[in-house]
Amino acid sequence: MSTVADSDPPAGTPGRAAPGTTDRAVGLDSVTRRYAETTAVDDVSLAIREGEFFTLVGPSGCGKTTTLRLVGGFESPTTGAVRLAGEDVAGVPPESRDVGVVFQSYALFPHMTVRENVGYGLRFSDPPGGVSTAGRVENLLELVDLEGMGDRDPDELSGGQRQRVALARALAPGPRVLLLDEPMSALDAQLRERLRVQLRSIQTELGITTVYVTHDQEEALAISDRVAVMRSGRVEQVGRPREIYRRPESRFVAEFLGDNNVLTGEVVDVATGTDDALRTTVSLDGTRLEVGVDPESHLPRPTTGDRLTFCVRPDALTVDGVTNALTAVVESTEFLGETTRTHLDWQGRELLARTARPLEGTVRLGFDPGDAHPVSVE
Ligand code: ATP
Repeated sequence: MSTVADSDPPAGTPGRAAPGTTDRAVGLDSVTRRYAETTAVDDVSLAIREGEFFTLVGPSGCGKTTTLRLVGGFESPTTGAVRLAGEDVAGVPPESRDVGVVFQSYALFPHMTVRENVGYGLRFSDPPGGVSTAGRVENLLELVDLEGMGDRDPDELSGGQRQRVALARALAPGPRVLLLDEPMSALDAQLRERLRVQLRSIQTELGITTVYVTHDQEEALAISDRVAVMRSGRVEQVGRPREIYRRPESRFVAEFLGDNNVLTGEVVDVATGTDDALRTTVSLDGTRLEVGVDPESHLPRPTTGDRLTFCVRPDALTVDGVTNALTAVVESTEFLGETTRTHLDWQGRELLARTARPLEGTVRLGFDPGDAHPVSVE
């Protein structure tokens, strides 16, 4: 099995909620989706909670969109089950799934006004809460900050405004789940940032369970309650943004989520430190480095002779470090505004540092053993 958030939801009868699954707004039980040559989604299990903003992130082709389409009912699993509010929705068409969907392309009707586009979201159902269709549309336009723009045509709107119309249209029937597939990828960086703040605040206000797809790791970390990192159809890790950033469980996650220095050495000594962490001494071509291993880690306890791979974030490398001193040579620098990102050579290995002051020449870097995070022991 690829991965499971929380515990495994038990299998059940189609159309009936399996015991223990009703608190899960969206569930995938060992879902696989195969096309002729490709396994787009490979034995994925997820449990997305009511009201959660849950993001699927990963490189192009890793299966994010297919996973979302399986939840929306635009695709069917080859094996496994998709559950909404605990019920197996096999054979239930998208319009009967109580989900709202926003795709990457705005897909607004050009011959309809903004108001008509939003109202189109109510073609399958009456507005929730007993309000009139017109009242519901006006409320939604206000929610997405487009009041007064109802009479405009879509081509009189900016990209960000069009995506907000698409969002209002998806929300119109009051769906239980909102599915968003790279809704901001066509927008420029500044607008994307603004829109993601707006989106998150609308989502929080409505408390609607949201599944969001992006290939942008920064966006995923910024917007989500929890994130699933996908790779080749499988889920590598599920967790809160801070958790997966600070404690990646694999080299792939460590490298996918922002810059990281990934180093491998031979374990030469293991001792228990004062903080209960295992102080593991690793030799990299004769240089001895100390790495803290969290006793709660999913990794096997390292023993002498193992090969330990660990990562250190560039901002954890400090200049004139005393612990774990590495004498490295600056190769190039990139000025990033508040910090400078520096590529260095250390014994033929590339290191990345991120410092407030630019580095040059030969520098002595160091890192705290607690800032080194092991990702594999072999
Ligand atoms: P991107 O970020 O590029 O949109 P993704 O992570 O969303 O990628 P998917 O679109 O889910 O990835 O595709 C996963 C894999 O399945 C890819 O290899 C893709 O080529 C393949 N695939 C998706 N849809 C189909 C299809 N209808 N027929 C055949 N192969 C498909």
